[in-house]
Amino acid sequence: MPWCQLFGCTQDPAKQALQCEDKMHVEKEHTFTNWMLNSVTTPSVYVEVTSIEQVQRVARDGAKFPSPVRAIGAGLSPSDIHQNDDGTIIAMHQLRKIYGLESMDGVDCLKAEAGATFADVQEYLHKQGLEMAFSAEIGSATIGGTCFATTKDSSIGPLCPSGGLGDFQSCLMGIDMVGADGDLKQHRLFDTDGRMCSSFQTLLGSQGTRGIAVVLYIATRKCIAVSTTLHLLKFKNDGKNDGIAQELYTLHTDAHAQGGNIMALISAQQGYAFVEQRLPLPATSTGTATSISAAPLSAFVRATNEAVKQFCFQRCMTPAVLHLLRPFSGTRLLRYKDAHRRGGFRYPMRARDQRRLTFAYYSFDAETFTATAEQALAFTQEYKRETGFSVGGFAVYFVTRSGHRDAGPYAGKGAGTSFSFDPIYHDPLDARWPVFVRAFSKWANEHGGRPALNQTPEIQTDPEFGSLCVSGVPEPRFTSEWIGRFFEAKKMAPS
Ligand SMILES: Cc1cc2nc3c(=O)[nH]c(=O)nc-3n(C[C@H](O)[C@H](O)[C@H](O)COP(=O)(O)OP(=O)(O)OC[C@H]3O[C@@H](n4cnc5c(N)ncnc54)[C@H](O)[C@@H]3O)c2cc1C
Repeated sequence: MPWCQLFGCTQDPAKQALQCEDKMHVEKEHTFTNWMLNSVTTPSVYVEVTSIEQVQRVARDGAKFPSPVRAIGAGLSPSDIHQNDDGTIIAMHQLRKIYGLESMDGVDCLKAEAGATFADVQEYLHKQGLEMAFSAEIGSATIGGTCFATTKDSSIGPLCPSGGLGDFQSCLMGIDMVGADGDLKQHRLFDTDGRMCSSFQTLLGSQGTRGIAVVLYIATRKCIAVSTTLHLLKFKNDGKNDGIAQELYTLHTDAHAQGGNIMALISAQQGYAFVEQRLPLPATSTGTATSISAAPLSAFVRATNEAVKQFCFQRCMTPAVLHLLRPFSGTRLLRYKDAHRRGGFRYPMRARDQRRLTFAYYSFDAETFTATAEQALAFTQEYKRETGFSVGGFAVYFVTRSGHRDAGPYAGKGAGTSFSFDPIYHDPLDARWPVFVRAFSKWANEHGGRPALNQTPEIQTDPEFGSLCVSGVPEPRFTSEWIGRFFEAKKMAPS
């Protein structure tokens, strides 16, 4: 199915189809738009592939498929990362075979094609009593669209074999990739002597400029049952933010000490922070999850939370009615249990006139949480006072760094914990949003924050800041002008 139809686009692909050779759907003048509708690009050629051999043919045939060749997964990134007006866009969403489990370097891995989504992967694994440690709110992102990009999730449980936890890259044990010569090559986290390969870390920071990922090997683990307790914290949006920052940090450190984590959504409009505190549950002697007696309304709270969260997330809404939950905040009445990590939401495309989530990603060292969160909130309050523009709030996640990365938000600070503090907004097309993002990026850069090329809109306006996200030598066949500027800025940056 053509990408645009997947998301309900009204274009008639048949009108523009050049040829449908060996099931390879090729179009000229295909306009690609991301989920947020804020980024539009018209490549010379747009091609949808259904097999690895087709990816190889595209990579080899520079005459039919002009450089640069850039892949798209589900097109869910809020930045301009897909800009590629003169080149070829290769759509990967139909390459989604799940092969099954395969041992790699002593770890049971799921082998799956790059167009498979997080939700596909978790669903498959759950049927085998297994899970992937990473479990983002979003289920419809593809594994290929996140293997060279930034992700975040407040994950729980032990670290992945890579030493990290909370982003998809931490789960990766290997990648099969098609290079500029069209050949297929396998890249692994560990070498044959069991040492971590630094070249694999560099590949993770390549932003897809070294080739097209076609198959991924994802570390799995036995399902860990998780208890989630909902908290509703009061937040006076009045410039005094130390209370909320401290409360969130305490919830996080308490959870972290028990192998758990927190995810928070701070509402700037409604004056609360909604928090999911997630704790792993010990398995019983029979290997099943511990009883749910400590959560009497578990099934009801779980179902309601999931439904409300999906509805509100995709519309970027923080309803005032949640204040009614405050008397029960943090109690067993607002607790539920899951047998495993979630598969994530499948977000449908939303029409132009409907509210839809957008956000801008920034991560900081967790040791600075209280001061940074306090100052970020103060910045947005001051910004509102000066301009009248207010974001919807902030999404907060905590990710464990392995200390091995050489680019991206989880590099440069050694092993430890990072938190992302992402302003959210309901209208990506509101001209005031990118202006705010540029101002917030400047503030974040000055306060030790790190961006993401796929998740920080407007990052192209500050290539030096974005250059923190790239590593290695890009291959011209896969390097768009948009991506290339960050590698250029890295070359110019003082070492
Ligand atoms: C409503 C919503 C909620 C979200 N929630 C979360 C969340 O909870 N956590 C989180 O981390 N993110 C979240 N995101 C962001 C999203 O997960 C990331 O932007 C992710 O990269 C999107 O995946 P994709 O498959 O759409 O990739 P795309 O946006 O299509 O591509 C991202 C990058 O990957 C490259 N690429 C794609 N496929 C390949 C391939 N096979 N080989 C090489 N390069 C490739 C592209 O060229 C591009 O550079 C959310 C986004 C939306 C719209």
